[in-house]
Amino acid sequence: MRITIIGAGPGGYETALAAANKGIEVTLVSAGPLGGTCLNEGCIPTKALCRTAEVLENCRHASDFGILTEEPKVDFPRVMQRKDEVVEQLRGGIAFLMKHKLITLLYGKASFKDAHTVRIVLEDGTETDVESDYIIVATGSQPASLPIPGADAEGVITSTDILSLGSIPERLCIIGAGVIGLEFASVFRSFGSEVTVLEYCREVLPRFDTDLAKRLKQSLSKKGISIETSAEVKEVVPLVDGSFEVRYMKKDNLQGVIADKVLMAVGRRPALESINFADLGIETTRRGVCVNAYMQTNVPSVYAVGDITGGMMLAHAATFQGLRALNHILAGQPAEGKVDAIDLELVPAAVFTSPEAAMVGMTEDQCKAEGRDCICKKSFFRANGKAVSMGEPDGYCKIVADAADGRILGCHLFGPHAADLIHEMTAWMNKGATLGDMAAMVHAHPTLDEVLQAAAHS
Ligand code: NAD
Repeated sequence: MRITIIGAGPGGYETALAAANKGIEVTLVSAGPLGGTCLNEGCIPTKALCRTAEVLENCRHASDFGILTEEPKVDFPRVMQRKDEVVEQLRGGIAFLMKHKLITLLYGKASFKDAHTVRIVLEDGTETDVESDYIIVATGSQPASLPIPGADAEGVITSTDILSLGSIPERLCIIGAGVIGLEFASVFRSFGSEVTVLEYCREVLPRFDTDLAKRLKQSLSKKGISIETSAEVKEVVPLVDGSFEVRYMKKDNLQGVIADKVLMAVGRRPALESINFADLGIETTRRGVCVNAYMQTNVPSVYAVGDITGGMMLAHAATFQGLRALNHILAGQPAEGKVDAIDLELVPAAVFTSPEAAMVGMTEDQCKAEGRDCICKKSFFRANGKAVSMGEPDGYCKIVADAADGRILGCHLFGPHAADLIHEMTAWMNKGATLGDMAAMVHAHPTLDEVLQAAAHS
């Protein structure tokens, strides 16, 4: 069997490897560097910057731990160089994996010729056609922008541009308090920028639990990040000295923030122009390529996975959607029934602010909206021995469970290592566990995971 995979992000390259390991001949086509958005302009470079911010904060607070140091200074070119080294190292790792004898890696721009043939314009300008039984499209997303005056001005930057800044902006205004907005707010506040975040909704992280979002906002505000919610950005006005005034409406008042750089972080949109979907009659909407539960498009030999399908734009979601598509192919494309044990409804999400936030499953608000009777169990990191010893007592955990049988429906937390802790909850939920099951499992002491158990016991 042969499969052509278009796009080499976590949706594309992980599926290519899994398919090759099953004995399938794979052609992987990439228009950009290996690793896609996640590795080159998303998860990984931002996590390298988050780590620098963490080291900086640790140095700043060293005296609290009885360590006397000089005031730390940021060597920004070195910070960015380290970030590039991290990306380069991981890209080398993927390149090594793609040397699999069943994978042919082609760099170029692919388009559909027919339902089984992809035409590729290679980097040297030559063209080649590749035929296969199936095609999987994983061409990702692009930063979205607001249709407002000044949005295209030089100095109004995207989450990609901010990763190659030459210096730390003195004043940074971030439009959007979603995941990207808050992660960069946290990092650049640590680096010394004066940061203002403007958010259209009533709370930050609109897709997260409201309670958690409120508490995280307070925690970030305490660190000196100015966050304006219910603020609708109307215009970005370039000023004569090279700075900007970002104008926004709040409570019927037009207000302004002056900044040296403006980060547009109002979401990402599927890269629908990346390939000629319409020529093959593949159904799309503004939200992305339409797929069924097996990630199959209306053209049976063509699948689409990851950001291009809209929905949850997360690297790990793309990977598991790719595996779902592969499993459907391997199972002979059944029209219904299970083809694997992957639960694509149960996808944890993490925000790498300081402290981190993470969630899995249903929020309390969602339960209410669906008329589902739920109970909420809470605990605090300030009562956790490990968190207090680490000097990181700020944080909170909420477990949402079914009121009738105690089955765990969701977990929402922020605090040290929240992004790692969420997997214990994901595992419980994956096995349909109850609060009682959780409370009965011995947790080692002193560990951060005890926060979760404390909530189950509460
Ligand atoms: P997002 O959808 O998470 O947040 C965008 C925010 O912009 C929302 O809060 C929205 O209300 C706000 N907004 C929209 N219009 C506005 C206006 N006129 N004025 C003020 N605010 C406005 O999008 P994002 O943060 O840009 O992230 C894009 C995607 O990338 C998301 O799907 C996200 O999950 C993903 N991502 C994930 C991670 C991670 O997993 N750690 C990190 C980065 C990005």
